[in-house]
Parts: sequence; C-alpha cells; structure tokens
Amino acid sequence: MDLQIAGKTALVTGASKGIGLAIAEGLVAEGARVVMAARDQSDLAAAAERLRGGPGEAVAIASDVADPSRIRRLVDDARQRLGPIDILVANAGGPPAGPPSRLDDADWARAVELTLMSAVRLARAVLPDMRERGWGRIVNVTSLSVKQPIGDLTLSNAMRSAVTAFARTLAGEVAAAGVTVNNVAPGYTSTERLEQLFADDYAKARLMASIPVKRFAQPFEIAAAALYLCSEQAAYVTGQTLVVDGGMVASTY
Ligand code: NAD
Repeated sequence: MDLQIAGKTALVTGASKGIGLAIAEGLVAEGARVVMAARDQSDLAAAAERLRGGPGEAVAIASDVADPSRIRRLVDDARQRLGPIDILVANAGGPPAGPPSRLDDADWARAVELTLMSAVRLARAVLPDMRERGWGRIVNVTSLSVKQPIGDLTLSNAMRSAVTAFARTLAGEVAAAGVTVNNVAPGYTSTERLEQLFADDYAKARLMASIPVKRFAQPFEIAAAALYLCSEQAAYVTGQTLVVDGGMVASTY
C-alpha cells in the first residue's frame, strides 16, 4: 500500500538505533525526507548514511531531546535543511528502572524532561507549520506500560501515561487543522534497550514465554504501526494508542 507520504518532511528523534531507526528507515522507504536526531553524532551519521540511496532522503542532526534549548535548535535546523516538518515521531531512550520507594526528586525531574517534556516541546515546535499547511502527523513512541504497568519501570510507567493523556488532549485541539496525534505502544522489542533491561538469559526466556506470540517484536514491526499512523490513510484516526505487543496486554480495551 502506498502510504502517500512521499516528499513529506519528517523529524524522527531517537533515530540512531532500535525502534526510532526502524521508523526512519520505513519513512525513507516511503519516499519521505527525514531528519534523524539522536545524541551521538557518530552513531547517527552512520545510521543516516545507511538509509541514503532509498527513495527518500535522510539527514542527521545531533540533539538531546531532554534539553529544551536543543529541541528548539533541532526544529529550526531541520526546517532550514528540509523545510517545514509534516511528520513528527517523538521517541528517545526510556528513563532508568527503579522501584517507587528508591527514586528521588532528581530522578523524577530527569524523567519528566526526557519522556514527557520532550514530547510536549517537540509537538509545540512543529505545530505552527502543520497548522498553517493544514496537514500534520504526530506520533509518540510510548510503551505497553500505558495499559499495564511494568515491574519496577516506575518512571516509564508514569511518564508514558502522562504523554498519552497529553496526546489525547492535543489531538482534540488540532484535529480541525488536519493534524492527527497518536501513540504507538511497543511491547518487548529486540533492541539495545531490551538487552540493557534483561541482561540475564533466564529472565529473558521467561519473559518471552509469557508473551502470547512467544517471541519479542522486531523493530520493523513497531515501525509498521507508526508508519500507518503517519499515512494519508490514517487521517481519521486521532488521539489513539496502537499497542503492538504480541498479545501481551490481556485487557479488552
Ligand atoms: P534504544 O535504547 O535501542 O534506542 C533509543 C534511541 O534514542 C537511540 O537512538 C538513542 O541514541 C536515542 N536517545 C536516547 N536518549 C536520547 C535523548 N535524550 N535525546 C535524543 N535521542 C536520545 O531504545 P528502543 O528500544 O528503540 O526504544 C525506543 C523507545 O521505546 C524508548 O522510549 C523505550 O523505552 C520504548 N519502549 C521500548 C521497548 C523495547 O522492548 N525495546 C518496549 C516498550 C517501550
């Protein structure tokens, strides 16, 4: 299916690895012109280089989405390089694990900046152009923890739910301007993040056995859901969370 986004300009953050990289790759394959952002310039430049030669374009801009001044600069630089942003995919690494009783105010403050405020600030920075042009797609990468909190991922559990509530509220504000706002909530996906969280093989095997499809997702499977939400065909879908978790969350809704 042609997603009808060839020539659109996209900004994907956290794009040097894992799910963000898979989304950037999918967008380039659809002919989009993609600004890829992440903190580490050398990883990022190598990732962008690998995507060049596809139907679209890939440009690398190093940035830290936990830093408000760098977000503003990132969106300005992206605009200068490729023009106004049509598609924003707000993604980054997750906050560290820890049980509620062991986290202090500084841990919470860092998680607010990294996970919640990055999504808020990125959306705010791209929205004026989207509204003016009457078309836009905003997709936040969250987690299955918005449906079912995960073990001691306290900060992630809380911040993803806040991003979801923010996205639902923003969706209502900008719907009439042709801008949709949705979330993709990945289940366990084979990336560096997963390796860091589950270094032990036994724990990994037990976790895998608890997933109805009996395997972890591949990043391209999460990207496929994000790409749909970025498509022309998804114009009537807004304020939603698409969970891609191999059947892990057992709730009806
Ligand atoms: P990853 O660690 O493999 O990749 C994260 C990417 O974000 C990298 O490109 C990294 O350089 C970049 N990044 C990290 N901090 C950044 C910052 N401050 N500014 C800019 N870029 C930054 O992670 P992943 O597994 O691809 O996960 C992506 C998101 O999905 C994370 O928020 C993660 O918590 C969430 N998630 C992952 C899984 C999973 O099983 N992998 C499951 C649910 C949710």
